[in-house]
Amino acid sequence: MYFYKNQFLPKNDIHISPDDRGYYFGDGIYEVFRVYQGTLYEQEAHMQRLQRSASEVRIELPYTIDKIGEILTELIHKNALVEGTVYVQITRGEAPRAHPFPAHAEPVLLAYCTTVPRPVAAMQQGIQAITLADIRWLRCDLKTLNLLPNTMAKQAALDHGVQEVVLHRDGIVTECSASNIMMIKDNVLYTHPANHLILHGITRAVVLRLAQSLEMNVKEQAFTTEQLLLADEVFITGTTVEITPILQIDGKRIANGSPGPLTQTLQREFERTFA
Ligand code: PLP
Repeated sequence: MYFYKNQFLPKNDIHISPDDRGYYFGDGIYEVFRVYQGTLYEQEAHMQRLQRSASEVRIELPYTIDKIGEILTELIHKNALVEGTVYVQITRGEAPRAHPFPAHAEPVLLAYCTTVPRPVAAMQQGIQAITLADIRWLRCDLKTLNLLPNTMAKQAALDHGVQEVVLHRDGIVTECSASNIMMIKDNVLYTHPANHLILHGITRAVVLRLAQSLEMNVKEQAFTTEQLLLADEVFITGTTVEITPILQIDGKRIANGSPGPLTQTLQREFERTFA
């Protein structure tokens, strides 16, 4: 069961207008929630980010945040979802194709669940990555539908026979195709500051809180691709990847090439936040 334009209905009964600006311009925003044990993880943080993305691109949310929460919870119940994800997107609405914001279009909310499982094998065994220039715009903090550079980056990784891509601007590491990246060097945890160049990941925030509660030294400070290759541990964070170690980048092993002890500690602590 999906939710589209004020009602719950089967996917096949949804008819999307070619005039939807999400379709023409990627003119919309979205969120992806993890569902653990039938409940939305970090619901409030995701809702705040949704609200912020909407207000920054000047889309008026079609419902209050509380109402959106109710819709998503009902969606979970209707689908009897225990573990998976909930996707929600809001486009600016339907209007004949023209760049200016339409005067009267009503924003359209689409939401559905998936049963995508936790990536247990990748979290345990780690993944490999390549580095690639970050060619995105300068508001990567907004979770908009304009994901073509992200999909191209992910495909470049797959074409190279690895799972992920580490994006950088002139050698400064920003994030990955759909996750944030952190490295540990000499017991200090580094990650790019939460400015306009990265998405302010909810998982990133949870991991930073956990690291602080473990009395790890945390620096929201950018690092270069060279520094990354010399790190003791590297991992990515995200709603779907949770905390996944990166063991090899551009064909070079990170440290001894196995998941590091601090990464594993953070993974254990992260599980405790929803188990
Ligand atoms: N960075 C990008 C580009 C993303 O698309 C995502 C998630 O989809 C993240 C980071 C991680 O954010 P979160 O932890 O909120 O899922």
